[in-house]
Amino acid sequence: MNERYPFEELEPKWQQYWAEHGVFRCDTSDTARKYYCLTMFPYPSGTMHVGHGRNYIIGDAVHRFKRMRGFNVLSPMGWDAFGLPAENAAKSRGIHPRAWTVSNIAHMKRQLREWGVGYDWDREIATCHPEYYKWTQWIFLKLYERGLAYRRQAPVNWCELCTTLANEEVLPDGTCERCGRPVGKKDLTQWFFKITAYAQVLLDDLQLLDQWPERVRQMQANWIGRSEGARIDFAIAETGDPCPVFTTRPDTVYGVTFMAIAPEHPLLRKLLAGNPRAAEVTAFIERQLLVSASVRTDAATKKEGVFTGFHVRNPYNGESVPLWVTNYVLMEYGTGAVMAVPAHDQRDFEFARAYRLPVKIVIQPPGRPLDPAAMTAAYVDDGLMVNSGPFDGRPNRAAIPEVTRYARERGFGDATVHYRIRDWLISRQRYWGAPVPIVHCPSCGEVPVPERDLPVRLPDDVDFQAERGNPLAAHAAFVHTACPRCGGAARRETDTLAQWLCSCWYFLRYVNPRLAERPFAAADVNAWLPVDQYIGGIEHAVLHLLYSRFIVKVLHDAGYVAFREPFRALFTQGMICKRSEKDGQLYKMSKSKGNVVSPDALVRQYGADTLRLYTLFIGPPEKDAEWSDAGIEGAFRFLRRLWRLVAENRELLDAARDLPCELRAMTGPERELYRKLHETIDRVTRDMEGDFHFNSAIAQIMELFNALEAHKPPAAGTPAHRAVFRRTVETLIVLLSPFAPHIAEELWAALGHPPSILNAPWPAVDPAALAREEVELAVLVNGKVRGRMTAPAGLPAAAAEQQALALESVRKHLQGLRVRKVVVVPDKLVNIAAN
Ligand SMILES: [Zn+2]
Ligand SMILES: [Zn+2]
Repeated sequence: MNERYPFEELEPKWQQYWAEHGVFRCDTSDTARKYYCLTMFPYPSGTMHVGHGRNYIIGDAVHRFKRMRGFNVLSPMGWDAFGLPAENAAKSRGIHPRAWTVSNIAHMKRQLREWGVGYDWDREIATCHPEYYKWTQWIFLKLYERGLAYRRQAPVNWCELCTTLANEEVLPDGTCERCGRPVGKKDLTQWFFKITAYAQVLLDDLQLLDQWPERVRQMQANWIGRSEGARIDFAIAETGDPCPVFTTRPDTVYGVTFMAIAPEHPLLRKLLAGNPRAAEVTAFIERQLLVSASVRTDAATKKEGVFTGFHVRNPYNGESVPLWVTNYVLMEYGTGAVMAVPAHDQRDFEFARAYRLPVKIVIQPPGRPLDPAAMTAAYVDDGLMVNSGPFDGRPNRAAIPEVTRYARERGFGDATVHYRIRDWLISRQRYWGAPVPIVHCPSCGEVPVPERDLPVRLPDDVDFQAERGNPLAAHAAFVHTACPRCGGAARRETDTLAQWLCSCWYFLRYVNPRLAERPFAAADVNAWLPVDQYIGGIEHAVLHLLYSRFIVKVLHDAGYVAFREPFRALFTQGMICKRSEKDGQLYKMSKSKGNVVSPDALVRQYGADTLRLYTLFIGPPEKDAEWSDAGIEGAFRFLRRLWRLVAENRELLDAARDLPCELRAMTGPERELYRKLHETIDRVTRDMEGDFHFNSAIAQIMELFNALEAHKPPAAGTPAHRAVFRRTVETLIVLLSPFAPHIAEELWAALGHPPSILNAPWPAVDPAALAREEVELAVLVNGKVRGRMTAPAGLPAAAAEQQALALESVRKHLQGLRVRKVVVVPDKLVNIAAN
């Protein structure tokens, strides 16, 4: 064995061994000790940097650890392969999206293999394969059958290159985040999934997810956004048109001084036709439609509006108040109209002050009455109702049910529950996605494609031209088809399904990835799901995870699966950041910040094990961490020292192979080393079982390594000492193997064990080894032995001092004296100086 650490030879060797021996192949028929370990599959964008790598390396460490703990681990990988970047590459560079995707997949797969990340590649899937998207289309049809997929007109953000954009993809200045072109609004007929029908159960079942981060559960609850309140039917005073509102504060309804309505509100179109104020109002509306919702509702954004010329009547007191179009009300929330109560709502207050609208107090705080003219902010706390007709003098909170009942009894409102979540827009006007399996027939209308005709295949011969919208709509052979119901001439739906939908059921497919006649086998998915451990970025905390939960619930209700939640435990890892060379600030790695670290060069320079070890050592995995080039050097030095220790002591280690390792034969340094070994096993195991604190586990292993170097047996060492030395080296290699698997395999084999180290059991703690010996300490007062005490070996000085001072015989000799100084020689004596 060479003393130089030859990572560049041994790493490819072991990767090849794992592949050839199918080490990561999972036999899913054995479910007794099943463990489904799933890392979120990537979008094949090209190359991965070390920040991406963290995700997969964490998953691999969990996989290997669970495997050695005796589980049958299923750890598959695939590709979230449809989506916009592939299509934009086609439009701007003339590469077919399929070719672009296939070549990126090949590159990323090579990276994963080079990192020693072990997957059951026999189960590899890609969402752009017809054998896969056939079943994405099937899922669409199942929702369609259950009335959960429907079409309606909706305004969308429209970029000429990227077509439809989500709100999050529009920058504050109204340009496209992906390509920089201006974004406009367009009314399009779109497909939606009725996720709102599942709002309450998606909220309730968060309680089942006690192994999810609290933060993620909270984000989902906020997204669903349940609030209890009342519907109150205001009406346009001039026309009688209904203008209902939803409010959580019906107790303030007598304080309404204007109505604030969203620029998108459909009522406006009707009211403004032929109205003298139409031009001014329309100009305001058009300006607001270009501003993203998050900017409009940001507390820091200036409240703006325009008077429509109309009024609404308050059904409680018959008062008419002006109707304003405002920037801060969204159509997506509530009814798109808000009863404005400036005295008791801060946004309404700011708006009222800006446009000199009245402020009417209807809740007075105890003691100090409010004066509308002197107020500098809304009063949002509780008090007694005033100016509120029959409710005057009532405590406002307690009166809420009565105020609501008053409306119900008179037929102009009722108690209601409102959810913030909206139906899920699932259609895209793009080529590179799964076609929506619907045919539009002039006689039959909307006709679902029968299951036997799935998949509706994407044609390959498509003309990609920038600024021309959806290329699929221009493909005549795709568009023109026969109606599956009447056989007449019909048109195919040319929208494709959002990438989101392809990625919210893939975890089911991995269990039976090659099944041709069904998406999955019920008995198998029921045995393997929920996923035992799901690992991925916090950026998926809401949409991907919520959509996946929704689809599983629908499949459950339709009788296809027996479980209600897809992921039992969730781990969200932090990002790796690096200082930008441009401005010295710390950023998440990205090309635009110029702070990307490529793993490829590091693997060549130091090897994959060093990259893995540093990636896991960099900090608690759930937190963001700063990349440092010095850190990777440190990881490399550690592995090199470990290699050298084994190489230099080969003879000693080989000779100790058959020596018994028995606690009762140990004394002195080997007893110390043996205890350190079992303390390390204990702490590493707990770090791994708990919150995946790999960084702390690795630190323990490094400490054990230092103890190993310090307690190396001398040439004439006892057999017990040599036996403990070998046992510690072997066990350290096993403990290290989830983090640095290549070097672990090599050293494990060098010590005479058959590969793979994955077949070695995870070491167990020997409780007897942890027990500390008792030692006797002499206690001296002014140099004379005045007592003796027994204490556990290694007792810290402060505790030894305390115990010594409490001894009866010592206290006797200290009578009338003051203690000046105490010196503790650990495990030997305590010397007290007093006068
Ligand atoms: Zn764009
Ligand atoms: Zn027809």
